[in-house]
Amino acid sequence: MKTILKSSRFHSSFINPLVFIIVFSILFGLILYKIYNNTRVEQTRNIKAFSENIARRIEFKLDGNLDYLNLLVKERAKGLLTKESFNSRLENYLTVHPEFINITWIDSTFVIKNVAPYIGNSLIIGLPIELPEPKKASRLAKKMRKPIYTDHFEAIQSNSSFEIWVPVFSGDTFMGLFAGVYSSNKLLISCLDDRSNKELKISLLDEKSNTIAFHPKTYIETSNISYEENLDLLNLNLKIKLETISEQKFSWITILLFSSTVIFVFGFSFSLSKVTVENHLRRQAQAKLEKSESFLKKQNKEYSLLNEQYISQNVSLKKAKEKAEESDKLKSSFLANMSHEIRTPMNGILGFAELLKEPGVSGEKQQEYIQIIESGGERLLNIISEIIDISKIESGQMEVRIQETNITELFEETFNFFKKETENKKVRFLFKNSLPDKQVLINTDREKLYSILTNLVKNAIKYTDKGNIEFGYKMQTNFIEMYVKDSGIGIKQDRLSAIFERFIQADISDIKARQGAGLGLSITKALVEMLGGKIWVESGIGKGSIFCFTLPKKTENSI
Ligand code: ADP
Repeated sequence: MKTILKSSRFHSSFINPLVFIIVFSILFGLILYKIYNNTRVEQTRNIKAFSENIARRIEFKLDGNLDYLNLLVKERAKGLLTKESFNSRLENYLTVHPEFINITWIDSTFVIKNVAPYIGNSLIIGLPIELPEPKKASRLAKKMRKPIYTDHFEAIQSNSSFEIWVPVFSGDTFMGLFAGVYSSNKLLISCLDDRSNKELKISLLDEKSNTIAFHPKTYIETSNISYEENLDLLNLNLKIKLETISEQKFSWITILLFSSTVIFVFGFSFSLSKVTVENHLRRQAQAKLEKSESFLKKQNKEYSLLNEQYISQNVSLKKAKEKAEESDKLKSSFLANMSHEIRTPMNGILGFAELLKEPGVSGEKQQEYIQIIESGGERLLNIISEIIDISKIESGQMEVRIQETNITELFEETFNFFKKETENKKVRFLFKNSLPDKQVLINTDREKLYSILTNLVKNAIKYTDKGNIEFGYKMQTNFIEMYVKDSGIGIKQDRLSAIFERFIQADISDIKARQGAGLGLSITKALVEMLGGKIWVESGIGKGSIFCFTLPKKTENSI
């Protein structure tokens, strides 16, 4: 999947240059075709003009030569042209007219009498005109009394030749003929100029379109464009034909332009593709960077979260440390308190037991000492039971025994138990029975409820020196709310929740103010919660306190 993606991305980066090359090539091809076509039209026009030009040159040359021969005719008719002057004048003439092989003088009996140039041709002097073409033309010229051209024929001196026969008459007397022998090839060449180049084949054709002369002698047969032009010459039927003999080539400028354009296109496409690829790579790198940036951001977020966790852990550690320190402090104060709480009654017991041993102690004193020993024992027992209770609660061994409990009876029992003690302290003790005519029954652990009540009343008595102590209950829908209210010393607001903690006294710095190990309320709270209820306190310094707790009307045994 990754590779396919990669390759498609790679392709897409090359598509733009490719499209560019294709479009450019088509456009460039069209332009080249247009140039080529224009050049072809132009060339056809040029060839036509060139053919006409050469044809006119040949006509002009042959006409000029005829004029010269006619001049000779006139002089001969008048008897002005001697043999010597004929030779000398024609020798000169022929040096500038290479199209002639020779010019001869034939007498009235059709026998060759003179020839120019003389050297090389003298052997023909005295020969009669026997070749068919010259014979036919000479006779016709005499008969018609005008110049006649022969058809072309193969002469000894030249491959293809033709002749012009011009008769000479003095009055009606036939005196003879001048005959100019043309070399077809030399005639053609003498009429070409510098413009005849290797790209054109120029031919001289007879009336049957047979080639009688052509130039250049060697060429590549790749005829492309051709044009024919007729010559206008007495009885002579000749044609000029021009053909291109090689494909039209593009000029050097075109080639240069083409190659530089191709180089430019490739260069441009290459740089374009390079830029595209580089852009692609840059984009990839940027995406990678963004990815790693977001990864870093995410990590940063995680780190800051961890940091927050560390900070909050630190806070809780600090709290735990403080708590540990406080519990250490509590432990020390508990130990100090314990030793005080145990030693005090113990000292009392031992001291007064010693006193009892003294002889002569009155009966009254003895009773007093025994009383003190008893209360010391009770105090010790109380502490020991509290320690046992808290350790049972801690280890989960405290059992709950649910039974039908008569609340009214339990309150009355508690009231009766503490009545004497409050009377001794001169404190009014009240049981507020909200339902005096009814025995309130709930399902709960009777013993534990009794412990709760006695603990709260004991504390109320302990911390109240004057005024009232009142306790009672109120029935709610599903639960019963019980309270113990006193007009005692009260508790500081900031210590209200702490008093339910183990080993805590409302003011631990003043532990010796009242006796107690600071376990009572924590045991009470644990018992209330075991029975499915809640406990709370409302108090203020000097305002007294009210301890309230609830219990469900029906408590399951499983609690
Ligand atoms: P103690 O054995 O010290 O009384 P408790 O757990 O019973 O221990 O009580 C904890 C502390 O709560 C006491 O030391 C006392 O300061 C405060 N306290 C409890 N009950 C009362 C009350 N009725 N009035 C004022 N202070 C009280």
